[in-house]
Amino acid sequence: MSCIFCKIVEGAIPAKKVYENEHVIAFHDIQPQAPVHVLIIPKKHIPTMNDAAGEDFVLIGEMHRAAQEVARELGVDQTGYRLINNCGKHSGQEVFHIHYHLLGGEFLGPLVS
Ligand code: 5GP
Ligand code: ZN
Repeated sequence: MSCIFCKIVEGAIPAKKVYENEHVIAFHDIQPQAPVHVLIIPKKHIPTMNDAAGEDFVLIGEMHRAAQEVARELGVDQTGYRLINNCGKHSGQEVFHIHYHLLGGEFLGPLVS
């Protein structure tokens, strides 16, 4: 399996984990774009949001549960944060294992500039 996020799930490459449960892990992005920049991923390999089906939508709900928990743990739940999923070419998706970016810790400005 060449997927870098699957390798993080397996522990084959290190990551600064901030949250883990049976279905989901969250860890700091290696190139943070904001003071808080965490990636939330399912342990299951799903390449893009377009590939999600059936029970995968339960997992996507688990990703939102993790986002709520991570935001609280990192102290941005009250100041606010942004959750972003990139899907496919025009979004600039680089890692083809679905993930949310949780960004916060400062005013983020417009979504697209
Ligand atoms: P995408 O563009 O696919 O939505 O975002 C992929 C994100 O994964 C990027 O923000 C990138 O910095 C991050 N990333 C890529 N490789 C690694 C890695 O090995 N470790 C961590 N922690 N983040 C990574
Ligand atoms: Zn994967």
